[in-house]
Amino acid sequence: MNPQPPVAASSEQPSPAATDGHPALLDRHSAVLSRIAEAARACDRKPEAIDLLAVSKTFDAEAVLTLATHGQRRFAESYLQEALPKMATCHDQWAERPSRRSAGDRLEWHFIGPIQSNKTRPIAEHFDWVESIEREKIAQRLSEQRPAQLAPLQVCIQVNVSGEASKSGCSPDEAITLARAVSTMPRLQLRGVMAIPAPSDDVAVQREQFAAVREVFGKILAEGIAIDTLSMGMSSDLEAAICEGATLVRVGSALFGARTPG
Ligand SMILES: *Cc1c(COP(=O)(O)O)cnc(C)c1O
Repeated sequence: MNPQPPVAASSEQPSPAATDGHPALLDRHSAVLSRIAEAARACDRKPEAIDLLAVSKTFDAEAVLTLATHGQRRFAESYLQEALPKMATCHDQWAERPSRRSAGDRLEWHFIGPIQSNKTRPIAEHFDWVESIEREKIAQRLSEQRPAQLAPLQVCIQVNVSGEASKSGCSPDEAITLARAVSTMPRLQLRGVMAIPAPSDDVAVQREQFAAVREVFGKILAEGIAIDTLSMGMSSDLEAAICEGATLVRVGSALFGARTPG
């Protein structure tokens, strides 16, 4: 039996000891938040200017809910089939958790995977953000299919700065053209750019690629399109991304552990 009274639902960051189970997950969450803060300070940025997006693909609803009790609210998924039932479970169970601060305290979901045109409707209906916009036709469908009673879908354009034909994302030039088109779509709100550069162990190479993404961000701003999100940096390169201006880092394995392939 636990003689301790329950922790007040309003507490900003419940201490790890107050949540049962998953101590390793909570430790890793704290460690990633520390890495972000440390990286921000190292390049004279404010830690609050960078937000953590927890990439929960391949991990279950319980892992998401555990991080939610620890203050995490923003989650990302890449595979629709896996995401939809997980999101429904999280939605139902989060409503019951004492850590939820109010009725309006909800989890925010980002879609970050490749989008087939026959899958746009469920994405438009269930997600808050889509970061992997790379074609006008897909953006158009998402705008048309976004339900009227929901807020506009928040979107980022995915940019490929590595020039690899096999990688997702549009070229920097295409990104500017696409940004202009997306910014006029009624049910989409363009928030910024997202990129997954080719992995490299060389920090100089990482920074060069992230700088190229930031340049695209700057060019869209220079078009007079108000955007605020530079989504770049993952488990292995978030420090370099933060030094190049990332406002949102997408972290999976450093939080949840290694993903089993397949
Ligand atoms: C899986 C994934 C991530 C997280 O990668 P980690 O290396 O596990 O942190 C980030 N962004 C996208 C688009 C992903 O698909």
